[in-house]
Amino acid sequence: MKGVPLIFEKSKTGKEGFRLNTPEVPEIDLFQTLGEDIVRDEVDLPEVSELDVIRHYTQLSRMNFGVDNGFYPLGSCTMKYNPKINEEVAAMPGFTQLHPYAPEELSQGTLEIMYHAQNLLAHITGMDYFTLQPAAGAHGELTGILIIKKYLEHKGQKRTKIIVPDSAHGTNPASASQAGFDVIKVKSDDEGLVDIEALKTLVDEDVAALMLTNPNTLGLFEKNIFEISKILHNKGALLYYDGANLNAIMGIARPGDMGFDVVHLNLHKTFSTPHGGGGPGSGAVGVKAFLRDFLPKPLAAKKNDMYCLDYDIPHSIGKIHGFYGNLGVVLKAYAYIRSLGTAGLKEASDIAVLNANYLLKKIKDIFDVPEDILFKHEFVVSCTNWKEKFGVRALDVAKRLLDYGFHPPTIYFPLIVDEALMIEPTETESKDTLDAFADALRKIYEEAKETPELLKNAPHDTPVGRVDEVKAAREMKLIYQE
Ligand SMILES: *Cc1c(COP(=O)(O)O)cnc(C)c1O
Repeated sequence: MKGVPLIFEKSKTGKEGFRLNTPEVPEIDLFQTLGEDIVRDEVDLPEVSELDVIRHYTQLSRMNFGVDNGFYPLGSCTMKYNPKINEEVAAMPGFTQLHPYAPEELSQGTLEIMYHAQNLLAHITGMDYFTLQPAAGAHGELTGILIIKKYLEHKGQKRTKIIVPDSAHGTNPASASQAGFDVIKVKSDDEGLVDIEALKTLVDEDVAALMLTNPNTLGLFEKNIFEISKILHNKGALLYYDGANLNAIMGIARPGDMGFDVVHLNLHKTFSTPHGGGGPGSGAVGVKAFLRDFLPKPLAAKKNDMYCLDYDIPHSIGKIHGFYGNLGVVLKAYAYIRSLGTAGLKEASDIAVLNANYLLKKIKDIFDVPEDILFKHEFVVSCTNWKEKFGVRALDVAKRLLDYGFHPPTIYFPLIVDEALMIEPTETESKDTLDAFADALRKIYEEAKETPELLKNAPHDTPVGRVDEVKAAREMKLIYQE
């Protein structure tokens, strides 16, 4: 492994990074003053200089791959460029220094932005009310499903089932199950869309909702969405929109107009705030007016020209995040929406779709891909032909891409496509980048033909080579041993 040694390995007894002045007051014995059970024993920290620390962590950070240093076409994740002006806005001291318990009169700026962010998101999705509390997409799903559950209970209905398509993101069944529902799968038809006939047979008075992504996880628009909406609503069930990826339709079509009752958005995907590595996110949830009284408390509101917090939400599911959610993420998304404007958001979607279809056109002849399908913001190709001809799998292609300096696409998802590569270029990538990525894939195809071993042992040029995928997840080594 060509990695960096641990900071502990760089430790030398007696080295120090920071020295306190000689104290002007007498030292106290902590053990005696506070008691032995409170004071920690010596902790075994590395002894290094300030420069050692700076070099160590700077070197580590340079080994990290991110949108700011390369193309990151990870399908379903919308790894678009995050404009730096968003960071500036979110870092303004008026926001960062505000105490969450500050009275409303002293929080007018932040409340105003929250209020407008709620309204902008409602406008973009065709919903009536939005909560900014959920901290991630999955958290938004749980919030949305709990709202549906509470609403149905309020109507005196005990429905037990949630339907999800077989192409759904894994968080959908997980959220439904977490909220106490049985998860029922509806299969996809030959076109990769929800099978309408199968759906009809599944929807009865026990179904609380259908969770759907549109365009779906194959990157295809569910063109039968009005019929789907009718099938659900006729039986008193609701329609939930997984809007983690709104990148294909923002400014063009609205889930609210398609018949959806609840949506969540991943502000950390479509609305350009940085994500990955488990950092803060926002899975804001929007509802139609009839569900307003079930939202988490409080909402930002406006009364008599003052911005305030509205706790008057009679059937609220309660709080699902401390205070008001991850406000920094909301601020970045707000800055993004305001700087693009209505026309800019639509243009972003147009280019996202164009980029995906352009890239597909450049590489479709080397993959298994259905003819003449118009994908939206992302597309799925299959490596089954590589596997049959060269014994090379999607995983090997992904690993070899690392040697070419690209982050691999999503692989083996959605589950209904064998040897899947799911590619989402996003609107922020140039034609040059897309061409370079297509060239790399074509070169890798030639390599697969001539020297398949090169792919099977890839990556070769990264600090860490091929890892055992199973052991890396099941037998994690989290403790350093010499
Ligand atoms: C990313 C994603 C989610 C989950 O969002 P998290 O913020 O990772 O919890 C859900 N659904 C779809 C379609 C997604 O792409």
